[in-house]
Amino acid sequence: MPKIVILPGDGIGPEVTAAAVEVLREVAPDVTFEEHAIGGGAYDQYGDPLPPITRDALADADAVLLGTVGGAHNSPWNLLPRPLRPESGLLALRKLLGCYANLRPVRVQPGLEHLSPLKPELARGVDILIVRELLGGVYFDQDRKIEGDTAYNTMRYTTAEVERVAKVAFWAAEQRRGRVTSVDKANVLEVSELWRRDVTALRDRDYRNIHLNHEYVDSVAMLIVSDPSRYDVIVTENLFGDILSDLAAVIPGSLGLMPSASLGDGAGLFEPIHGSAPDIAGKGIANPAAAIMSAGMLLRHGLKRSDAANQIDRAVALALREHPTPDLGGKADTKTFTRAVLNAMGSPS
Ligand code: ATP
Ligand code: MG
Repeated sequence: MPKIVILPGDGIGPEVTAAAVEVLREVAPDVTFEEHAIGGGAYDQYGDPLPPITRDALADADAVLLGTVGGAHNSPWNLLPRPLRPESGLLALRKLLGCYANLRPVRVQPGLEHLSPLKPELARGVDILIVRELLGGVYFDQDRKIEGDTAYNTMRYTTAEVERVAKVAFWAAEQRRGRVTSVDKANVLEVSELWRRDVTALRDRDYRNIHLNHEYVDSVAMLIVSDPSRYDVIVTENLFGDILSDLAAVIPGSLGLMPSASLGDGAGLFEPIHGSAPDIAGKGIANPAAAIMSAGMLLRHGLKRSDAANQIDRAVALALREHPTPDLGGKADTKTFTRAVLNAMGSPS
């Protein structure tokens, strides 16, 4: 029986993860859940935003479903020394799990094209998965220095690092439309030359059914908003992926619609992109769609249960069309939306 650790966290986290757990229980009745504290609430209870009891529970978890951490701008948590603040719990969690691939689907849901800042004809049908390398590259390389009027950082990748994240992208593409775009800057960077060579070699060796192409990051920055439907799966290194995934995140038009997954060799971490939304916490109106879709990613990428994941995605799409929440211009509260998802899963597709 797979064990899922639930970390509801602060703000609307408990409301949206409760909805996601309800949906998980329905499609994966054999899964067991263990709930633990993280973030500001964990500090209040244990004096530590990632307490030992939570760390221990992660040791034999198959996947982790996280809500949100943090409080309002005037929260007393913000006055704590940095290592005790809610966000430090999140950083410690990510470090502990060692996830090297971050996955962000960017999807314009049918019927919600009007929310996108793109013209409806461009937004319609957009369905991209961005796979970003998360542990390497210029953000982490220790070959870095600032001295007098000179400073430098280093973008370095090894074949092993490129291959493990590219594998995630190829596997995901097999579940989707079978296309991977690898994004680099191989016209000027040696590190990109290696990236491109290794991604190509892996495709030729193990994923010959996948259509692979290579594009330059500057060109992708333009095309992802001017012609987004050209992309299926995008795979790229840490810095390029950081920028491209935030750029692409504006396409769906609402934070409440953005799930994510972070995968490593152990348990994966699944969480909505949005923050703790203190302005609406406790009101019962938070949109749980991102958390529910994160649970879908947990089934797909964490437990390799694509059928159950597809069931969730279809039900969420239907519920969004028929019972949109206030952030989407609708009237449904969290409970109504969640019930709509559960009902849609029960009906034949
Ligand atoms: P944090 O510092 O915790 O990341 P933030 O200010 O960056 O917070 P959010 O907490 O995501 O961002 O909130 C931004 C706005 O979006 C708020 O007005 C919030 O109410 C709204 N929002 C975020 N998530 C949701 C959701 N799931 N449902 C409805 N509204 C949401
Ligand atoms: Mg934020």
